[in-house]
Amino acid sequence: MRLSRYFLPVLKETPAEAQIASHRLMLRAGMIKQASAGIYSWLPLGFKILRKLENIVHEEQVRAGHIPVLMPTLQSADLWRESGRYDDYGAEMLRIKDRHDRDMLYGPTNEELITDIFRAHVGSYKDLPLTLYHIQWKFRDEVRPRFGVMRGREFLMKDGYNFDLTKEDALHAYNRHMVSYLRTYERMGLQAIPMRADSGPIGGDDTHEFLVLADTGESEVFYDSAITDLTLGDRVVDYASRAECEAIVKEWTTPYARTDETHDAALYDAIPEARRKASRGIEVGQIFYFGTKYSEPMGANVQGPDGKSVPVHMGSHGIGVSRLIGAIIEANHDERGIIWPEGVTPFHAGIVNLKQGDAEADAACEALYASLVALGMEPLYDDRDERAGGKFATMDLIGLPWRITVGPRGLKNGVVELTCRRTGISEELPPKAAVEKLALAYAGHVLRPSL
Ligand code: ATP
Ligand code: MG
Repeated sequence: MRLSRYFLPVLKETPAEAQIASHRLMLRAGMIKQASAGIYSWLPLGFKILRKLENIVHEEQVRAGHIPVLMPTLQSADLWRESGRYDDYGAEMLRIKDRHDRDMLYGPTNEELITDIFRAHVGSYKDLPLTLYHIQWKFRDEVRPRFGVMRGREFLMKDGYNFDLTKEDALHAYNRHMVSYLRTYERMGLQAIPMRADSGPIGGDDTHEFLVLADTGESEVFYDSAITDLTLGDRVVDYASRAECEAIVKEWTTPYARTDETHDAALYDAIPEARRKASRGIEVGQIFYFGTKYSEPMGANVQGPDGKSVPVHMGSHGIGVSRLIGAIIEANHDERGIIWPEGVTPFHAGIVNLKQGDAEADAACEALYASLVALGMEPLYDDRDERAGGKFATMDLIGLPWRITVGPRGLKNGVVELTCRRTGISEELPPKAAVEKLALAYAGHVLRPSL
């Protein structure tokens, strides 16, 4: 992409309404524009990152054996009356009437809708196990929408639902989700700690929330610092293996990690003092096992091997896709702007031309651009006729992990400058070596053009 032809409405001023870094930086970097309270338009840069996160979520869900679908945002109230949640959900649910005076609602979650699909099409245990998921906009009329996309009213969520014959099968689904979520966050360059949580209006016995540690997080969390040493890394997981998924879950749920809702002071005090941590966290996902809570009232039954009809065991699993962008920025920024992890960056590298219109500099930039594209990367070329300082400030603000600076002086010596956004370290290299270094930096990441 050439910046002269892109739409990147960066702001010079710090927006007064934004209280936390991620909200300020998303507005300043031209990623979002507020449409009304807690509702945002996604501008090109923000939309591109949203799509990248969606891709990662899809890839990891499909890898775990889960099947994508797409359900509507608007739902009929009748289904929610069947489950008993129409009245229970309260003022957070946006209720709408259509022209025939029928009660509709903008879905805050999809347990009812998915259960309706299931009961219409699945009747035998032979069709199980089954996990369906989608990535769709939700609406919750939050009392206090704030912090930009972090607590919006309209927000993008991945929500998945498993249907199993037995509790044991459903617990395998629970474990599979925990492992696939850990992998998903890791690919996004985030450490999200699974913590024992409270189930809230979704209901159920078993539930974990995934929290990214950040001072601006809304949840109070308590944990054993040993958990922050754990990573999946390159480990190849066989999601069909119960034993393997269970072992990973055990490893991650053994160290103490809880939110204030489930905090147990006695257990916490038993952790060696140096490892006892209390901090704040951002909830970026949650998984639930809730047994037959929805299948029973809604008649989602299958015929078991013995011919008897039984309600299926279910769970639901959510990732806050749009909130994740805020969480990633909270965990990755400095006073100059965002610092994208390589796995989610909107562009792989910025190219800054210090002397636009200089034949040699222009040609070198074009050549670099073509080499990066040939490797499957997406560069952002600042080809505007602007001062170097302004170009650097924009690149720092939008946070691309790497910048290549090209100017006539360097070119005379056959070099360009490669700068790492995170460390601030620059080195002079021949253009070819700079491209090779970038290829190495992105080895292990899926490179594909995005919107
Ligand atoms: P919270 O406690 O933050 O209100 P929740 O527990 O009600 O969230 P879930 O039903 O667990 O939310 O939804 C799954 C995920 O969706 C959450 O983990 C969170 O990342 C995201 N999410 C929930 N509410 C919002 C919101 N208002 N804005 C953005 N993301 C949200
Ligand atoms: Mg939750």
